[in-house]
Amino acid sequence: MEKVDVLICGSGSAGLCAATWLARYGVRCKILERREGPMKRGQADGVQCRTVEIFQSFGIGEELLREAYHVLEVVFWADDGRGAIKRTGRTADTQPGLSHQPHVILNQARINDLLIRRMQAFNDQEVDYGYNVTNVQVDSGASATDADAYPVTVTAEHGGEAKTFGAKYALACDGAHSVVRKALGYNMIGDSSDAVWGVMDVIPRTDFPDIRKKSSIRSKSGILLIIPREGENNNLTRFYIELAGGTNPKGVTLENLQTQAQSIFKPYSVDFTEIIWWSAYAIGQRYADYFHKDHRVFLAGDACHTHSPKAGQGMNVSLQDGYNIGWKLGEVLTGLASPSILETYVLERQKVAIDLINFDRYFTKLFSSGASTTPREFQEGFIRAGKYTAGLTAKYDASAITSSQGSGLLASNVAVGMRLPSAQLVRFCDSKPMQLMECLKSDGRWRIMIFIGDLTVPSSHSKLEMIGKYLAATDGPLHKFTPKARDIDGLLETVVIGYGKRHNVELEQIPEIFYPAVGKNQIRDLHKIFYDDESYNKGHGHAYELLGISPDEGALIIVRPDQYVSAVLRLEDFCQIGTFFEGFLKPQT
Ligand SMILES: Cc1cc2nc3c(=O)[nH]c(=O)nc-3n(C[C@H](O)[C@H](O)[C@H](O)COP(=O)(O)OP(=O)(O)OC[C@H]3O[C@@H](n4cnc5c(N)ncnc54)[C@H](O)[C@@H]3O)c2cc1C
Repeated sequence: MEKVDVLICGSGSAGLCAATWLARYGVRCKILERREGPMKRGQADGVQCRTVEIFQSFGIGEELLREAYHVLEVVFWADDGRGAIKRTGRTADTQPGLSHQPHVILNQARINDLLIRRMQAFNDQEVDYGYNVTNVQVDSGASATDADAYPVTVTAEHGGEAKTFGAKYALACDGAHSVVRKALGYNMIGDSSDAVWGVMDVIPRTDFPDIRKKSSIRSKSGILLIIPREGENNNLTRFYIELAGGTNPKGVTLENLQTQAQSIFKPYSVDFTEIIWWSAYAIGQRYADYFHKDHRVFLAGDACHTHSPKAGQGMNVSLQDGYNIGWKLGEVLTGLASPSILETYVLERQKVAIDLINFDRYFTKLFSSGASTTPREFQEGFIRAGKYTAGLTAKYDASAITSSQGSGLLASNVAVGMRLPSAQLVRFCDSKPMQLMECLKSDGRWRIMIFIGDLTVPSSHSKLEMIGKYLAATDGPLHKFTPKARDIDGLLETVVIGYGKRHNVELEQIPEIFYPAVGKNQIRDLHKIFYDDESYNKGHGHAYELLGISPDEGALIIVRPDQYVSAVLRLEDFCQIGTFFEGFLKPQT
């Protein structure tokens, strides 16, 4: 029996995102995929701002942004009372200030491909195709007593033969009809009725003026969403059409979808010059009754939540499930953190799944209430939902890795348990204007961000010296928790953010622990010090103001490897940094 640390069932969004993290940590896993090769086309396409941020943090954001359609505006069309449609409003797709990244559209096959290439680059990690997982069992006795045991047994069928694998951990990323979920005896709870949707990727010839904008059309003949797709030259466009309740998806034909679309568009005409892909599928609003088995098998993605595609959440929430469990397994399996942090996956993502279903119910009602929702109410509801659909509302509850302590007053726009908002800063060493989020790469490091205020003020300067002394001490958290083979910034990285004129400060005034000598040549890393200052070409980011931090008081913010905020502390309370990490990190000898 082959033994692996992590066995991932399914190479969709959830499985590949978890695998990319594991590859980044250098943890090898086995990814079993039923298909004979990578996904070729189809399915989800909407990439939330938050997902773009994640791709950027893995170093694949630029490719995504270059290839994708950027959704900047949403247009609303509704019945004019005489059987024709008319435009009723327009709005920004993402309200300004939510994220420094846009909402984009790119097909799921390409998104999966970006992750596959990234994990290959990180760790030569491959997917094993043609493996159909048939069963999963957990030896509960071994799970409880031995962290190094392989209590999970996964059976798969490959080329007509049964193969068995032993795993320390397994991830059920095998989609809505998850075999793993069924093998564990878990059920999906929620609505019994399924909404039926038709989806077509087409190249339309039309006189409809907003065909290259995301548009919602609510006509007497039904509801249609237009999602312009990547590739400006070929006019690829996706149409989502909600079909009548009770429709059997298997009975839907391409002709049905085309006829309904043409009738919704009236008085505009639409022809379909090419049909690239189409499908009809039924979706219920449900989530799994359990998200884990003995904290050894975890359910992620559609295996534990399904809902309508209206708000473009499916791929994103699934991918973010994988993102959440991936780094936690990475920390545990590289001996950095206690296995107890895995419990936070369930705490955090189960809540997200329940919120998702509730949001989908609200959004479905908004779309479907026909005459009872005025075009104006519909538009307002759509805009209100914007923060959610951008993927920026998840708030994780208190746990060992998300402190319940600390004062929100110190950074009034930073919420513990939510992803740290970004703002433009100027890097001290080379005056490059950069987004704060660019410092938060998905490389497995925790960040201790020190908003120190104006370093020309003696009290601020002496606070930085005290914090530096504490962090540099041989019994301080950096030495205590960082493996000896790594550089001193290899697990807990400091980031200093000053306020005011950067040219009034010299590097020597900043303690060396904030730019330690690292790497094979042991050269001081100057790229960890920033200023909230005017840049040469891109203006001023006003980061302190945006985050709600007073330059006089400053703040210490501990950020998790997934960019979520663990704690906001007073500068004077720097000793709590060690106390926080003692809660789950393992001292390294
Ligand atoms: C036909 C269809 C159309 C969709 N259209 C949209 C859309 O337009 N917009 C949108 O937002 N969402 C859409 N979705 C949903 C969206 O694709 C999912 O929410 C998202 O892909 C979930 O990611 P996942 O990783 O959880 O699962 P998936 O992406 O479904 O990946 C699961 C993977 O597991 C593999 N697998 C399954 N069973 C086994 C097994 N026993 N052994 C080994 N491997 C297995 C599958 O082959 C697949 O590769 C659609 C889904 C379907 C099925």
